[in-house]
Amino acid sequence: MCGIIGYLGYREAYPILLNGLKKLEYRGYDSSGIAVFRKRKYNLYKTKGKVNELEKKISFYKIKMKGNTGIGHTRWATHGIPDNINAHPHVSNSNELFLIHNGIIENYHAIKIILSKNGFIFKSKTDTEVLVNLIEFVQKKNKLSLEEAVRISLNEIVGAYSIAIVDKSNPEIIVIAKLGSPLALGINEREFFISSDPVSFVNYTKNVLYLRDGEMAILRKDKDLDLRKIRDNHKLNPIIKELQINLKEIEKGNYKYFMLKEIYEQPKSIRDTLRGRLLIPNKNIDGLICIDGIESNKDIFINAKSITIVACGTSWHASLIGEYLLEELARIPVEVEYASEFRYRKPILGKKDIVIVISQSGETADTIEALKLAKKRGAFVFGICNVVSSYIARNVDAGAYTHAGPEIGVASTKSFTAQITVLTLLSLIIGKYRSTITNNRYQYLCKELKSIPEKVSQTLKIDDTIKNISQLYCHVNNFLYLGRGINFPVALEGALKLKEISYIHAEGYPAAEMKHGPIALIDEKIPVVFLSTKTGQYKKIIGNIEEIKARKGKIIAIVNEDDIQISMLADHIIKVPKISEELNPLITVIPLQLLAYQIAFLRGENVDQPRNLAKSVTVE
Ligand code: GLU
Repeated sequence: MCGIIGYLGYREAYPILLNGLKKLEYRGYDSSGIAVFRKRKYNLYKTKGKVNELEKKISFYKIKMKGNTGIGHTRWATHGIPDNINAHPHVSNSNELFLIHNGIIENYHAIKIILSKNGFIFKSKTDTEVLVNLIEFVQKKNKLSLEEAVRISLNEIVGAYSIAIVDKSNPEIIVIAKLGSPLALGINEREFFISSDPVSFVNYTKNVLYLRDGEMAILRKDKDLDLRKIRDNHKLNPIIKELQINLKEIEKGNYKYFMLKEIYEQPKSIRDTLRGRLLIPNKNIDGLICIDGIESNKDIFINAKSITIVACGTSWHASLIGEYLLEELARIPVEVEYASEFRYRKPILGKKDIVIVISQSGETADTIEALKLAKKRGAFVFGICNVVSSYIARNVDAGAYTHAGPEIGVASTKSFTAQITVLTLLSLIIGKYRSTITNNRYQYLCKELKSIPEKVSQTLKIDDTIKNISQLYCHVNNFLYLGRGINFPVALEGALKLKEISYIHAEGYPAAEMKHGPIALIDEKIPVVFLSTKTGQYKKIIGNIEEIKARKGKIIAIVNEDDIQISMLADHIIKVPKISEELNPLITVIPLQLLAYQIAFLRGENVDQPRNLAKSVTVE
């Protein structure tokens, strides 16, 4: 994962790099480093820990980070532990070349052996240090320019990368390149901004070029951009786009953490996801759903033999909800796959099969590979992602954005509900095309869907109840989350949220299945969260609650406002508004997000930057 950043122009590079790195920390934060260049001089500082650690140390040691060229990195380690030595930038043996890298060099070991035989010495355990020395080796051996040495070296590399490299003897040039990992270039007159994510330079420029896989660019001071193909050095025409980012969306405002802000943004993000797609039904007009990517491929969806949804993490949980919705409303057989498993199997897919890939960032490495494989097998690939112009968005046959706005908190919240919103729209519209849903039901669900943002706002008012429950249970070691039917994936998501940010062990399970194992864990110390709103399986859930109570487990039940039966059985109840069964997850997940947040907060954890995690997983 990692965030890479660079600057070349006429301003002081250091503050631009430092502030940019802070905005990239969602990509990784186990160590960081910056190198700034001026004439033949340079200053390099790197350290274990977050970017503010780096900032503190640079100011404590009064290191003068002066210069108009610089590169920086915030790391999520793949090779070598997070420490000062493995942190980037990495420097070549002659101390000439400085490299930052996001990705994995898969054949680094073989290259390292060859370089070692040629006298190279390695200080770190990273794959990145191997790459910078390979470039140096190729450059010196063949007396090449930096850009040519980079190009030839990259042609030897197997793996994924976005890189920026500087030769300290000529800091008026930065060479960048991309394969697999994201890389954006901000362009102003007389200056270039390099970043894994344009949020880090949107303050300076809105002109952006997204490098495509297999492209490299040579950035020269006061010169035009030189874009090339890595394979054959073919010159390319840069396509510069205008960035559409609202700065307020990437600030915390009055919230202590981005995650909390994003939880509270859900009425808006769901409304934005529905905007222009759900024509509001009222007594005069029937409801109508339009999604361009579906409408222009109507026949493909009508005649689909099967749908496979491929995703990772929270998006995988949204996919399970999608499975329920698509089978229920559109009557198409659906399978849900982990992208990391799917990509290494031999999936049976053909022209009449649809593969839906879901990823918030649109850059998830395994999901990208799954997309490629699905295309190779001839399936029609539909994408659901949040980040506009991301790799997945650009490479699917059709798709729908979630419009949740930038999500910075590592634990995903508003993108989850936005993904479910899109999957609900999708299921309804396909159901309508295939006549597998009656017009009455369709109209009713459209109306209910329209009311969701308001119902999420009401649900968010239960914060005080959640705070009280969190006080009681923030010190336990285990939690169990149980649900049935469409609420089972919500139980999985609730457990994942808690694990991610509070480090409490939590398991999500189908409520009935718990008898086949997890019930052995139950004693008076274990809280069990039940998704027990009024769905078709309400009575069965009551039975499951009794089973836990009989073993002295503590019951925290999510119930509807008018609930009586479960409210009498549970130790704690969290009341949420009533909604049709199909739309339950959009409401029932809200208290689980708040519960995870409050517990992590009470335990004093850094909610936005949980240990070992990073926001977009751009390595496999
Ligand atoms: N492989 C590099 C390292 O471990 C970069 C990691 C990444 O991009 O996630 O330092």
